[in-house]
Amino acid sequence: MFVDLHLHSTASDGILSPSRLVNKAKAKGLKAIAITDHDSISGIKEALEEGKKLNLEVIPGIELDVGDSPQEDIIEIDILGYFIDISNKSLISIIKKMNESKWKQKKETIKILQKYGIKITEAEVLKEAKGGLVGRPHIARVALRNNPDKFKDYDSVFKQFLIYGQPAHTDRDFELTMKEAIELIHKAKGLAFLAHPIAYIKVKNLHNLVKKFKEAGGDGIEVIYCYRKNKPYIGVPIDKQNELIEIANQLAEEFNLLKSGGSDFHDPKTDIIGEVKVPLEMLEKIKRKVYSSSSSPSSKSS
Ligand SMILES: [Zn+2]
Repeated sequence: MFVDLHLHSTASDGILSPSRLVNKAKAKGLKAIAITDHDSISGIKEALEEGKKLNLEVIPGIELDVGDSPQEDIIEIDILGYFIDISNKSLISIIKKMNESKWKQKKETIKILQKYGIKITEAEVLKEAKGGLVGRPHIARVALRNNPDKFKDYDSVFKQFLIYGQPAHTDRDFELTMKEAIELIHKAKGLAFLAHPIAYIKVKNLHNLVKKFKEAGGDGIEVIYCYRKNKPYIGVPIDKQNELIEIANQLAEEFNLLKSGGSDFHDPKTDIIGEVKVPLEMLEKIKRKVYSSSSSPSSKSS
């Protein structure tokens, strides 16, 4: 029996609505899923309701962006929160602040792209986001569609403009540090996991990053991950993916961290829900810690 603890819906940069996502996961035969939208919990309620209808366990989650801090070797890090209480006031207000800052930043990115002669407008990007939060993938999709002469694929928009160090990469005026992200998740009664650790190719010392994560109160690592269908390892053979997973596994063991796993599904075109086999036992271990550290976990339904 398997689970998928890393899924995105239209509440952030995914293509499927929360309920369609839950239906898809059910059709794949999964036992449980976590909805982990970027800096957003607006899809959780719908997903929980749909999960109840279909008898599929849905774990309320989030994927928090951590602000870049190159001097600390922290670049493009994401922290997953599981079993968060979506009615938590601190969580709600911080997310709101993050998203205002995010949109301001995205408008800046769009302006820079326009200066480079890329055909793209704010309105088109907002439409692409379908009322959810605007993220870089929305910008990349619009840029690719409008400028086939300039980009060969979706990834090249990132490589030429959007990733850290490229001209349209901009900073936000409000960002969380890694420690703040972990603390916010804890405040909302959730557990904090370092997302896809091997994907952080801009981080010079991964071992040190995991050490800092643990010292900051982090609970676990996303060990099993669909590296071959996600940046920056798209297309690597399965053996290579298994190697990457084993590196993450070793780090979790060394630092005595819990383990999780998921596909990081965004788009039905890739159809990767449940592709990496994350055993239900992994989730059971996570739950044991959730229930031991809180008398009222945010989801007990199954
Ligand atoms: Zn993700």
